[in-house]
Parts: sequence; structure tokens; C-alpha cells
Amino acid sequence: MKVLIIEDDPQIIEAVSLAFQIRWPEAQLIATQEGERGAYMVETEKPDVVVLDLGLPDISGYDVLKQIRLFSDVPVLILTVRADEPDIIKGLEWGADDYMTKPFRQLELLARVKSLLRRRSPVGGEQTLVCGQLRLNPVTFQLFIADREVNLTRTEGIILHQLVKNAGQIVEHSTLAEAVWGEDYPDAAQSIKVYIRRLREKLEADPGEPQLILTKPGIGYVFARQC
Ligand code: CA
Repeated sequence: MKVLIIEDDPQIIEAVSLAFQIRWPEAQLIATQEGERGAYMVETEKPDVVVLDLGLPDISGYDVLKQIRLFSDVPVLILTVRADEPDIIKGLEWGADDYMTKPFRQLELLARVKSLLRRRSPVGGEQTLVCGQLRLNPVTFQLFIADREVNLTRTEGIILHQLVKNAGQIVEHSTLAEAVWGEDYPDAAQSIKVYIRRLREKLEADPGEPQLILTKPGIGYVFARQC
């Protein structure tokens, strides 16, 4: 397993590298402090997962992401000090698979990187989920609503899969977090909220007045259809 970290703060690279050495010595960590070089290394080094800082000295992390997505679907986790929801949404919209805000817990980063890798190797065997006009492939996360194909990131696909599978019932934050990251985190509900917002933008006629994915405050979400 090869992990590329594109980050201009040497202290963060060192901390992450130490955490990897102790907890996941079989993974190879490669790093660069520059965005252009990072995109180049995705092409030449073919990492299995990328950890990407947004504030880089040469080009922004968004531009790096845009370049990477031209030729690669490698999982990308954004690591950023920008906790503003619009910034995070923008990152997800441009093709990131997950994000974490700084300061971060190193073990959580490690767990999230591992979960992105696990999702690269689908177990298979699961049937396409059908609910009314919606058809979701639980392995590729290809989604059709009637004849319209909707592009989902893996994380969005996993969340929608959980909701549709349990249509009409409340799915708790912790259940969604476990499905996405393999475990629940203290701020998982906050992250889930961002993905739900993205899903609503893709699925709802009016994302501000959702009819499909309803919020149960403090508990979770419900897919408001009977399948
Ligand atoms: Ca930075």
C-alpha cells in the first residue's frame, strides 16, 4: 500500500509519518510539499490513496484535485484548516472522497485512510437496490433516477445505500459513520451532515425543502419513501 501526502507543513508530514510507522508499518508513505509535484507523483508513483492539504505554496489543493481527477480515480482525503462548510463541499464536489479538518487525531486519519482503501476492493455479490425510480448499485455506487444517471462519490454512495436499504426507518448518525469509516467519531455527525447536504443537492427537487432525505435532529436521517 502506498500513501501520498501532499502537505506543506513538515511537522504534519512528520507526525503522520510517525503514526504510520508505529501503527501501519507495511504502508509506504511518500510526501511532497508542492501541489504541482503532488499531481505529478499521482501519475508516476501511482499511490493507492492521497492525503491532500488545501493551502499549498504553489497551486491550491482544489487545483491539484482537479488535475488528479483528469486521469485518476484514486481516493483523495482532504486535510484542511478550513472548517467552513462551503469549502468542504467544494472539495467534495471536485472529487474528494473524504475530508478532515486540522487539528486532527492521527489515529483517526489512519483509520479513515484505511477505510478509503477498503472501499477500493468491493466484496461484491450485493444486488442493485431499487426503490421506486431509484436504482443504486451498492458496489460501484452508480445511481440512476428513472433514466438520469447521478454521479456519486463513494462516501455519498455508502450513505445513500444505508438510507435506501432502511427506507422509512431512521438511520442513526453512528450507523452511518460506521458504514463510511468503519467506526464512529466524536464529530462524525457534523461530517455526515455535509455529505447529506451534497446528496440533497443531487437528489432533491428543492434541497432547501427536502422531501426525500429527512433530518431527525440529534438522531439521524430517514429516507422518506417506502420501497
Ligand atoms: Ca498548508
